Amino acid sequence: MGNVSLTKECDVVVIGAGLSGLQTATLLKEQGLSVLVLEARDRVGGRLLSHTLKNGARVDLGGQWLGPTHHRAHKVAQSLGEELFPTYNKGKNVFMMTGEKQVRDSFFPEMDDDIAEEIERAMDRLNELASEIDTTKPWAKEEHRAYDKITYADWIRQNTTSDIARDAMTFIAMSIFSAEAHELSMLHVLFYVASGEGIDTLINTEGGAQELRFINGAQQLPIGLAKRLGDDVLLNQAVTCVEHFSNNVVVSTHSLQVNAKRVVVALPPALAGRLSYKPALPGIRDQLTQRTAMGAVIKVIVTFEKPFWRDEELSGLASSTTLPLSLTYDNSPKDGSCGILVGFMEADEGRYWGTKTAQEREQKVIECLRDYFGSQVDRYTEYKELDWAQEEYSRGAYGGYLPPGAWSIFGEAVSQPINSIHFAGTETASQWAGYMEGALQSAERVSQEILDIFNMKQSHQTVN
Ligand SMILES: Cc1cc2nc3c(=O)[nH]c(=O)nc-3n(C[C@H](O)[C@H](O)[C@H](O)COP(=O)(O)OP(=O)(O)OC[C@H]3O[C@@H](n4cnc5c(N)ncnc54)[C@H](O)[C@@H]3O)c2cc1C
Repeated sequence: MGNVSLTKECDVVVIGAGLSGLQTATLLKEQGLSVLVLEARDRVGGRLLSHTLKNGARVDLGGQWLGPTHHRAHKVAQSLGEELFPTYNKGKNVFMMTGEKQVRDSFFPEMDDDIAEEIERAMDRLNELASEIDTTKPWAKEEHRAYDKITYADWIRQNTTSDIARDAMTFIAMSIFSAEAHELSMLHVLFYVASGEGIDTLINTEGGAQELRFINGAQQLPIGLAKRLGDDVLLNQAVTCVEHFSNNVVVSTHSLQVNAKRVVVALPPALAGRLSYKPALPGIRDQLTQRTAMGAVIKVIVTFEKPFWRDEELSGLASSTTLPLSLTYDNSPKDGSCGILVGFMEADEGRYWGTKTAQEREQKVIECLRDYFGSQVDRYTEYKELDWAQEEYSRGAYGGYLPPGAWSIFGEAVSQPINSIHFAGTETASQWAGYMEGALQSAERVSQEILDIFNMKQSHQTVN
């Protein structure tokens, strides 16, 4: 165990003070169990990280939007007094397709009717297939396991004929998963679409997953939960080892040993697989964590004195299948007191630009924004970025995804407890996996799992 200087005891030790870990600890503590949350970073929130810009505006470098049906997240926000406001979404959108710029009212660029119909058919088919998936067991049916043998790129090739339709369907993968279409199991895509209430809900702003933003930033949720937990949250405690038995567990960091009855690993699976377990976990669990890759995304925030694009009746939403900054949104504060554009370099573009210097990235981002919004972009006042793949305790974002074959063989291992070890985290959710809402749902599931063992009932109403 090394030279640990301090030993603590509790009923349940939680590894990771992201939204899922903190909510798990909250729900268990509410029922009278003693908890301790061990967090590797010097802050809580994991993939939620808010930041104050030089001009005082609050922005999110991690997760930021809530959809109208993210009921759990709304409930937590409300209980903490955190306010939301609608994402700015008025005006026309900009598209850069193979060098040609278009400005349009719609979500897609102008195209021939037959191509538009082809895209609509492919999206309808995706929704139809997803609606048949049981998100608690996506691998359960043989006909669904067949989709685990192909990639999303294979499916696109089989279900579209024109390059434009293929590009559009591929673009969806990048913007939702921060992964390339050829990296994703088709079954994983169907699971995700089902867990996110359909492809339209996933990609839309109004009525969809990008509808609302937090005035003070989304990190206020984990910060608020951690405040309530007080001394039960310990920062700078990177867990290295989990020694597990059927009825107890010993969890160690460089300076601390926690003896508990149960442990909740509230980490993305890729990071959960990097802990040392004694005894070693079953092969099926380890092979799952070997396969759950994290998406790759660099999130950039570019600030201006005012949201100049609004004067030109532009929404700030810009997208491209060719530029490395493939997607932007208006991210200005609620009162529009300054202009902020948020943009994303995703999947292979994120990986490629992650190898460049910050200065090279800044130049490229500004170049892309200039292509979208014109020369006024040169008057930006601040550039801020975060490459999530470089983060030691995230190693990518938005979330973990599965390649072909994994759901069919390892599906059960995603959330199945082993001895005294339980698994939480947005990647284990059956509703809104990959999102804040999924993190909170996983906390409900795992805390119920543990309360059942302690023979206790959860008093709060779970949201269905
Ligand atoms: C750029 C970006 C944009 C996103 N956009 C959205 C969005 O708009 N809407 C939305 O709903 N979601 C969004 N997400 C996803 C959302 O942020 C996540 O789904 C959610 O925050 C995951 O919470 P979690 O608790 O499951 O995991 P995490 O937040 O990853 O929490 C895991 C915690 O474990 C800690 N940890 C890691 N290793 C160890 C260790 N060895 N010992 C102790 N602690 C450890 C980490 O530091 C972290 O605090 C986005 C994410 C990113 C990065």
